[in-house]
Amino acid sequence: MRPEVLNPLFAEVETLDGVGPKLRKPLEKLGLGRIRDVAYHLPDRFVERRAVADLDEAGVGEQIVVALTPTEHRASRSPRGPYRILAQDAMGNICALTYFGRAAFTGKKLLPVGETRWVAGRLDQYDQMLQIVHPEQVETESSAAMGRLLEPVYPLSEGLTQPKVIALVAQALAKLPQLSEWIERGQLDKARWPSWQDALHLAHKGPHEAARDRLAYDELLANSLALMLVRESRRKRQGLALQGDGRLRDRLELPFPLTGAQRRSIDEIAGDMAQGAPMLRLLQGDVGAGKTVVALEAMLVAVEAGAQAAMLAPTEILARQHFETLRKMAEPTGVMVALLTGRDKGRAREGTLMGLLDGSIDIVVGTHAIFQDSVAYRNLGLVVIDEQHRFGVGQRLMLSQKGKRQPHTLAMTATPIPRTLTLAQYGEMEVSKLDELPPGRQAIDTRVVAMERLPEVVEGVARHVAGGQQAYWVCPMVRGSDNESDDLAAAEARFASLKARFGDDIVLVHGQLPPEEKDANMQRFADGAAKVLVATTVIEVGVDVPNSTLMVIEQAERFGLAQLHQLRGRVGRGAEKSTCLLMRSNELSETARRRLALMRETQDGFRIAEEDLALRGGGELLGTRQSGDTPFNIASLEQIQRLLPIAHEDARLLVDRDGGLDGERGQAARLLLYLLERDYGVQLLRGG
Ligand code: ADP
Ligand code: MG
Repeated sequence: MRPEVLNPLFAEVETLDGVGPKLRKPLEKLGLGRIRDVAYHLPDRFVERRAVADLDEAGVGEQIVVALTPTEHRASRSPRGPYRILAQDAMGNICALTYFGRAAFTGKKLLPVGETRWVAGRLDQYDQMLQIVHPEQVETESSAAMGRLLEPVYPLSEGLTQPKVIALVAQALAKLPQLSEWIERGQLDKARWPSWQDALHLAHKGPHEAARDRLAYDELLANSLALMLVRESRRKRQGLALQGDGRLRDRLELPFPLTGAQRRSIDEIAGDMAQGAPMLRLLQGDVGAGKTVVALEAMLVAVEAGAQAAMLAPTEILARQHFETLRKMAEPTGVMVALLTGRDKGRAREGTLMGLLDGSIDIVVGTHAIFQDSVAYRNLGLVVIDEQHRFGVGQRLMLSQKGKRQPHTLAMTATPIPRTLTLAQYGEMEVSKLDELPPGRQAIDTRVVAMERLPEVVEGVARHVAGGQQAYWVCPMVRGSDNESDDLAAAEARFASLKARFGDDIVLVHGQLPPEEKDANMQRFADGAAKVLVATTVIEVGVDVPNSTLMVIEQAERFGLAQLHQLRGRVGRGAEKSTCLLMRSNELSETARRRLALMRETQDGFRIAEEDLALRGGGELLGTRQSGDTPFNIASLEQIQRLLPIAHEDARLLVDRDGGLDGERGQAARLLLYLLERDYGVQLLRGG
């Protein structure tokens, strides 16, 4: 249970003054559902307020400090109307200082008629008249500090304004409770970090590096700690020691020898599975590295030892593909492989459920459906989760709770993430790495092409298709971007214009299509009925159409490198030579240029991931978040690189010393885990 002291932070934002139904949506869009979220809604940057001699010098919308002399106080006729104080600058320009509601008292008191005051605030225009609404500061004398005041600039969503956010943040900060310190004294002193409460206040006030570092470190520490608790608790759980005798694996008739990396990974996995403690292992391997065979061998180990294995895919289509591949490969072994997805209904579904219960099905492949409560296994020994990055740690835990004894878990991912991030994302797992591609792979001819050459590219695609091969055409759809609907519109417009050229040979797939339509279109392409597939990034994961050997990516600079790499991995799967055209906009930043050049240069996902991190992390400004594909909201890439190793080590020390989080620091750490919603680790502790 969440410690009581945190309750005020988890109250809904609606409990703040000035938040009505109208703000609900805009706040939600920014993920600001609770007071805690508002307190952690840190500014992107700060602007300096400028002291001006008179209003002619200032622009509308600007934050200024100016000397003004009130000439008249005007109360509104309606009780809810504004209270206006007309004032003159040194040149005789008139400006209204406007107050609403009870704030009018402040104005009356601070701005007597005829006395010059220094006023700070944002200059607006209202009805042809200059005005400053709720001046932020009114002083009798100018101080240098006034002119240098910093104004936070917050990320906004439609319907929210800076002053509104500033007001909400102030309220949220006023509610911060006093919490005991979870960071180790030595680390605090060495880094000269403020307390948690001070850090939040400071981070909203100015570009305070130590404060931001501390908050980032908190997040990294919480993450590492939670992962470690998960890992420790698993280690203590009773699992099934599964010792395969090789009789099924020996019968496989693979058309190729395994690579060294594949053999090593299989040994590591089989070694884990033979232990009593449940395995928790990540198989990391680039697209095409051959993870499926490794998964099959692992599943056969389970079956040899008399248990069942289940493989979870993120989508229906992928589940089907895996099922076909595995069934074919496993044929000579005689094991029974079944498919189970949400689509299965009636008799077929009943049959599969029976088979899982009585043990006649050895291996089941499917979507989330395989873990529904209605699905019972006779003896589930291994769970394989494909494309792991789609699932958070919490979900991973839930999946593996199935069965009285914890099954072994093998997670697989093709997302090439740098070493530091592997630690952050999968810190609770052991890692096997397929760092060697099967021999004979052809390099994909990658080119960067200016957008202006679109007509040529379209003709190129037409020639390609006429030659009997297929092509992907990818439009950007950046997750969480402000203009998602614009992106979608762009993809649909591109589809419409290409449709004029390609007619029935072209299909469209994106995340907002109804699932049946999406699957049907995808299927038409997979069957070869459609020649060109226009898609947003939904095709990123898993699609396998070897005859598709051309990939066009529009506005390639808008994609993350990891994403580009995954997209490109969709081609180069057959015997034919493949091409990838990265179409770029005309205006490119230096970083964007280098990133695209890197794509041209190498096909090594791990190298791309490392250099991407360096490029993005290095070019980052203080406070810009861009943590993109990481599990972090507060820590930036640069902070992750710099602080994660320290946080990870500190978490390890704490868990070594006080694995139950019972001591003083342990208790404080519990607060942190609840505060940042990494409490799944705590739930596993007794008394959590
Ligand atoms: P991943 O899931 O890692 O992206 P797959 O398991 O789908 O990769 O394998 C990609 C292709 O490589 C498949 O056609 C597979 O049969 C083939 N393959 C796997 N291992 C080897 C190997 N050792 N030698 C040659 N081809 C292999
Ligand atoms: Mg795969």
